[in-house]
Amino acid sequence: MQADILVLLASLITEQRLAIVLVSHDFGVVSRLADRIHVMYAGRIVEEGTTAAVLGEPKHPYTAALLACIPRMDDPLDSPLRPIPGQPPEVRSLPTGCAFHPRCAYAQARCRAEAPGLVHDGARAVACHFPLPA
Ligand code: SF4
Repeated sequence: MQADILVLLASLITEQRLAIVLVSHDFGVVSRLADRIHVMYAGRIVEEGTTAAVLGEPKHPYTAALLACIPRMDDPLDSPLRPIPGQPPEVRSLPTGCAFHPRCAYAQARCRAEAPGLVHDGARAVACHFPLPA
């Protein structure tokens, strides 16, 4: 069913010259259809860019952690899963500073005190005080 819908969407995009906004937790689906990706956490965009750039070189720790959760076909069968620790926050009671800081492996004092804004750099944008290097 999902594959049929993706094929239908892809043909509509091409034949009707449509732009669509696809909301999904499935990076596999997104990578098949999207030219650009906006990653959201706790109701805010934390990273955006072309699909190849965001999936190939994530700069936000949340994007990187999401990608690390996906089991790889070449992983040994007994490889442990790599979930993101903790739980997403309640949107009505967000943590101070960066909403991802309680779950982020790179969090520092500044992250707990100050919410990062979305900083654009060419075709990329990231909301993080300490973006991951390319
Ligand atoms: S601002 Fe700090 S806590 Fe938030 S994602 Fe970046 S490094 Fe992690």
